[in-house]
Amino acid sequence: EDAKSVSTYADAVRAGMDAGLAASGGMNADYIPYLASIDPNLMSVAIVTAGGEVHKAGDHDYGFAIESISKVFTLALVMDAIGPDEVRDKIGDSPTGLPFNSVMALELNNDKPLSPLVNAGAIATVSLVPGESADDCFGKILACQSAFAGRPLTMSDEINTSEQSTNFHNRAIAWLLFSAGTCYSDPMRAVDVYTRQCSTLVSTLDLATMGSTLAAGGVNPLSGKRVIKEAYVHHVLAEMMMEGLYTGSGDWAYTVGLPGKSGVGGGVLAIAPGKLAIAAFSPGLDPAGNSVRGQAAVKAAALSLGLNLFRGA
Ligand code: GLU
Repeated sequence: EDAKSVSTYADAVRAGMDAGLAASGGMNADYIPYLASIDPNLMSVAIVTAGGEVHKAGDHDYGFAIESISKVFTLALVMDAIGPDEVRDKIGDSPTGLPFNSVMALELNNDKPLSPLVNAGAIATVSLVPGESADDCFGKILACQSAFAGRPLTMSDEINTSEQSTNFHNRAIAWLLFSAGTCYSDPMRAVDVYTRQCSTLVSTLDLATMGSTLAAGGVNPLSGKRVIKEAYVHHVLAEMMMEGLYTGSGDWAYTVGLPGKSGVGGGVLAIAPGKLAIAAFSPGLDPAGNSVRGQAAVKAAALSLGLNLFRGA
């Protein structure tokens, strides 16, 4: 932990793979039937730099559900559409300190979601995506996710169907938001679109590319296209720092010191602003809902590159 030795990107990816494979104890998410059935041995790490260099190892092509990591990119989309002040006013900007799907977090804050990166705030964020219909809104989100990835992404019908037939808890959250005036479209449409956005398939390499677009100030380093205004990127990263790993966010800030985001599909993403993004994937989760191996892998890769923002130069 003390040694701040700076290794090459290829070494960092290898260090991430080794640390990920050495970590054990996670359990696949089981509240979504599809996720329970994924091979728990899958493991991969990828780094994409702000200059477009790519390094990857393991099952880096395997497509998995983006799940909660989608919240970051829809936040970017909505921020671009309505501006950060309105986002803060309508959703909030602070961590909840409670699990990702907490209903109590709403009650404790007069039904305002607080963070756009927990389920309540993410459903409220989706309700702010401009569009005439669910298909229209989801089309915009998928186009945004694809622009971040630099290639056309697709939604998995199998994952979406699995989630749509079991997402009663999220529907309850949406109705609570709606009753308090903090869901800004039809609540069932918002949950429908939110569930679809969680069902987009990404590879570890896609995820690292999506992150590298934030690291590069909003321009995708592989496609060269601008995806979000540069002036808004640091707001998105601030939210990731505070709430990206749910109740594991404190540990993450303390040990990794980079904005990050996890999803119950097993993906973990971290951004070193101005430099690069590291993504890792493995399905087994800790009790907070974060991939055990994914966290270990990103942590080791970030440490080997000396990227902790709070350690200075
Ligand atoms: N679709 C999942 C849900 O809403 C995403 C949760 C997550 O990745 O943390 O329950």
